[in-house]
Amino acid sequence: MDEVVIVGGGIIGASTAYFLSKEGRKIRVFERDPTYKNASFPLSLGGFRRQFFQKENILLGKFAKEFIFQLPDLLETKKNGKPTVSVVPNGYLLLFNKKQADEQYEALKNHSLCDAGTKNIKAEKLPNIFPWISSEGLETATYTDSKIEGWVDPHMFHSALKNKAIELGALFEKKEIKNLNEIKAEIIVSAAGCWTNKLLSDIPVAPQKHTIFRVKCPKHIPEMPLTGDLSTGVYWRPEGKEYIAGSPNSIFDTPNLEPEWNDFEELVWPALAKRVPAFEELKLTGGWAGYYDTNKLDNNAIVGKHPKMKNVYLATGFTGRGLMQAPGIGRGLTELITTGKYQTIDLSSFSVERILSDKKRTEPYVL
Ligand SMILES: Cc1cc2nc3c(=O)[nH]c(=O)nc-3n(C[C@H](O)[C@H](O)[C@H](O)COP(=O)(O)OP(=O)(O)OC[C@H]3O[C@@H](n4cnc5c(N)ncnc54)[C@H](O)[C@@H]3O)c2cc1C
Repeated sequence: MDEVVIVGGGIIGASTAYFLSKEGRKIRVFERDPTYKNASFPLSLGGFRRQFFQKENILLGKFAKEFIFQLPDLLETKKNGKPTVSVVPNGYLLLFNKKQADEQYEALKNHSLCDAGTKNIKAEKLPNIFPWISSEGLETATYTDSKIEGWVDPHMFHSALKNKAIELGALFEKKEIKNLNEIKAEIIVSAAGCWTNKLLSDIPVAPQKHTIFRVKCPKHIPEMPLTGDLSTGVYWRPEGKEYIAGSPNSIFDTPNLEPEWNDFEELVWPALAKRVPAFEELKLTGGWAGYYDTNKLDNNAIVGKHPKMKNVYLATGFTGRGLMQAPGIGRGLTELITTGKYQTIDLSSFSVERILSDKKRTEPYVL
């Protein structure tokens, strides 16, 4: 009988293994594909932000920043020394049209209550701060400029968490779990990402394909934040000397991870060129697609104990924000498992009970 078994060794599984191991728990992680070829985290943009509507998401974003900036010390191992995760703290810039503005003004009240340090400006003032942008058709924008949001290398982030968990005694094994009944453990944590529904059929999380394009532009703007234009749904950021940009088009129920190449000409390039005139001169250099772990009820995380099962906990449904939420979720699940309740950020509004009783708590503006 194992003490704790975690199903899925992705970013949530690795973070949970780290935090639980730190509390002295004996952890075994079952991961069916240790190359993580189709897992969500390596295909992500690595972004961490605090600009959300709901307080829990804002607070999880704040904790992500704290954790990432202390990571070299927190996750130092004897074998690998102090890990780095290539942090680029360029911030996030979110752009809203007139129809979307009121909701964002409401979100800003929560930013302020959570002391998020975000700023808000009228669209026409945008070029004063971001001279490369066209504010046409926009009403307002929010951003951070004090290096509290940005992005990391998702692979390095995962390796740092996993290596530290292993040093603390966690065991990672290659194995596919077909049914949770196979597992003999005091506690089971399902961290199976967008495939959770195969193990827990009452959890409404599904793989949703998102495509990312890599582009080259003669004009390099290295200080550009991760910019989300909510008026078109297109988002982008610098990546070395190039840029990467996400399509607003997403597809459920598709087994292939071939990028939706047509989206580039039809949706992404026109939106980029409209917002950043320098992007009229773009060359597509590559792309990939990955699955969001989408919560079909309300785009929000599902975290906690399953009320109908004796010893099963789960964390899924992050809908495009699981990488940045991994530290806060790993810590929160550990608090719940070891003390019976959340001690730091109260994540009870993400409970499985909420999902099973169909109580929506939508996080708007999924990027
Ligand atoms: C294009 C794209 C961009 C993104 N951008 C961002 C971003 O900027 N910021 C951010 O925070 N998030 C982002 N995300 C979302 C983020 O990647 C996910 O929310 C996060 O990876 C979810 O973590 P996870 O550990 O739950 O799932 P995963 O990373 O998918 O890991 C789950 C693991 O479970 C394993 N598994 C599943 N079922 C079983 C089983 N039955 N037995 C054994 N193993 C199993 C899988 O093989 C997999 O390795 C993005 C995602 C995509 C696709």
